[in-house]
Amino acid sequence: MHKFMICFNEQNNKSREYAGLLMEAFASFMQYDPAHPDLVISVGGDRTMLDTIQAYVGQIETTYFVGLHTGNLGFYSDYKEDEWERLVEDVKYHHYEIARRNLLEVCVNGTSSQKYLALNEIRLEQNRHTLVLDVLINGEHLERFRGNGLCVSTPAGSTAYNRALGGSIVSCSIRSLQLAEIAGIHHNAYRSLENSLVLDDQTTITLIPVGQNQAVLGVDRLSFEMQHLHSLTVRVADCDAMFLRHPHFSLTQRLKKAFISEK
Ligand code: NAP
Ligand code: MN
Repeated sequence: MHKFMICFNEQNNKSREYAGLLMEAFASFMQYDPAHPDLVISVGGDRTMLDTIQAYVGQIETTYFVGLHTGNLGFYSDYKEDEWERLVEDVKYHHYEIARRNLLEVCVNGTSSQKYLALNEIRLEQNRHTLVLDVLINGEHLERFRGNGLCVSTPAGSTAYNRALGGSIVSCSIRSLQLAEIAGIHHNAYRSLENSLVLDDQTTITLIPVGQNQAVLGVDRLSFEMQHLHSLTVRVADCDAMFLRHPHFSLTQRLKKAFISEK
């Protein structure tokens, strides 16, 4: 790795301060290259990492990412702010592992049109009226869903919106996608699965609006108004996002710190 870039949360003074320290330290042994970096350091929280990934999504196959978090525990950031010097040393002396995170690819209205990549999740939502969606798994009809929408998350995104929907937390080493309902309607007349569904990386999920074809497509922190939506297909993308990871990473500790311990 020879070229680096630093992205930071511009609303946060602490992030700016640490970005400055990292800039000086990395410039002493790597070249600053915002256009074609080998390594992008994201300073902030998960929100900053999501923006960073979307900013370099066109070069995702040749770019590595690492996060320094300046807020609460960041799921995408292995280093705390007081470990910034360690982050510099680990990169300098190649003291890290590479963690690959599967992304989702979403195609709007067939393969030749709009495509997006997501690190956390894809959401199709409509909260003014009931959204009716036919759900197909590998081309086979599973259900006609009625409710506010559906969320398809990656394992890395399973601790984000998916978790708030009652979905499972999935280890990032299991290449997969998870379908979860957003406020589904369930009674004698309307039936859908209710449970979240974790599927393997060869699966394609197709969502087809029934009746009205307006909804909002969410891709991580991005959102798009869909006026003439005919179909949405979601599958595990061919390329992954590559993160530098502490060799001592533990999912158990991360979950405990984020969701269980009070400290
Ligand atoms: P945001 O303010 O950027 O994020 C909302 C919260 O989700 C923040 O606390 C963020 O952490 C955290 N987060 C993001 N990715 C995560 C992950 N993979 N695992 C655990 N926590 C994660 O909100 P936004 O701009 O609307 O959307 C960004 C993401 O937030 C979305 O992709 C969605 O997954 C999530 N979100 C969750 C809910 C919910 O749980 N009800 C609602 C809206 C959005 P930081 O504080 O470190 O940035
Ligand atoms: Mn955080």
